[in-house]
Amino acid sequence: MNVTKQDLEAWVEADRDVLIQYLRDFIRCRSPNPPGDTLEAAQHVRTLLDAQGLDYEIIAPNEVMPNIVSSFDGSVAGRHLALNGHIDVFPVEDASTWSQDPWGGALVGGKIYGRGSADMKCGTTASIFTYAYLHRIREQLKGRLSLVVVSDEETFGPWGARYLAEHRPEVFGDCCLNGEPSGISTLRFGEKGPLWLEFRIRTAGAHGAYTHMSPSATAIASKIIADLAKLENIVVPDLGNLESAISSASEVIDGEYGAGAAAIIRKVTVNPGLVSGGIKVNMVAAECRMQVDIRMPNGLNEKDILPRVDEIIAEYPGVTYRVILSEEPAWTPPDTEMIDYVRQNAKQLSGIDPAPIISLGATDARLWRYKGLPAIVYGPAPRGMGSIDEHVPVEEFIHVVKCHLLSAFDYLTK
Ligand SMILES: [Zn+2]
Repeated sequence: MNVTKQDLEAWVEADRDVLIQYLRDFIRCRSPNPPGDTLEAAQHVRTLLDAQGLDYEIIAPNEVMPNIVSSFDGSVAGRHLALNGHIDVFPVEDASTWSQDPWGGALVGGKIYGRGSADMKCGTTASIFTYAYLHRIREQLKGRLSLVVVSDEETFGPWGARYLAEHRPEVFGDCCLNGEPSGISTLRFGEKGPLWLEFRIRTAGAHGAYTHMSPSATAIASKIIADLAKLENIVVPDLGNLESAISSASEVIDGEYGAGAAAIIRKVTVNPGLVSGGIKVNMVAAECRMQVDIRMPNGLNEKDILPRVDEIIAEYPGVTYRVILSEEPAWTPPDTEMIDYVRQNAKQLSGIDPAPIISLGATDARLWRYKGLPAIVYGPAPRGMGSIDEHVPVEEFIHVVKCHLLSAFDYLTK
């Protein structure tokens, strides 16, 4: 007797308490990055896989940042789906500003609180349980399913999915489903790309009353910041169906990311996130360092940006810069089939039709897209992500688990 999608949904309902407990315990396994030690969180994943009798491999090029990979085959050959999630989380700046213990996994008023609840232990739990449920009915499936649980995502580090992309490309399969925060009313088929630059400005420096003796490094920095803001006017090429998907979703985008988001999703943005210069109020600053976070929209890459930066700093002798991070923006064609599965299932489960949009931030899904493989992100809203009182409502968590399970089932039965 074949298991139906209704049966799968019923399994999740029956396991509601198990799932809630699993996510709460997952949050209690502290895994802030930096420093990025995920041994405890990885053990939590391993315990579940062991209990379900599922084989897995630990791939740990950095021994405190293990990645866990597991695969099984259906009864007949077919396509290969990868379920990907990370287990490291943002650090907590000041726990006293939270209303709940950030590492406590508290369940209050139907919401599960804690650092990593939304980003992305909710989504990774969806991946793990989807994998375990579908393993039970593997005889009914076509193709192959892989679980790709990784470390070292929050800092774009080299030991997680980036390591696997290079050294274990076979686990990437033909398509990726990822539960990073998207908000359940949107799904993400692409993302902007970060380009981070570090500037160093040096002058001779002088006594603060002798401004005729030396230019000020901090004053030069402020001019460079003003010049860099002009990068936001770079014309972005028209990308056809990506453009139409974005423009038709502009209201949803503003609703999801805050008013004004739709206006920057197809633009370069420039954020001088870190500026530090001078040592004393009555001295002309001899040195200033700054780090600038530029986000490139789809259709542009660093070759479109860096020559303009070179032109800007050519005006200022004594200024140098280097690239500290450059990740190209990437996207999956908005007509890819996984988008249809996620939309149909979300609609059937909760009456919500998630709008396909581009993400402002970057995720590991880009690594699939760099290989030309479709990668879709669908997860809870980023409530308190990187901030305080991060949480996920239980109903949203259960919805995400069901939606991942049913969409993976659709992909492996078509
Ligand atoms: Zn994340």
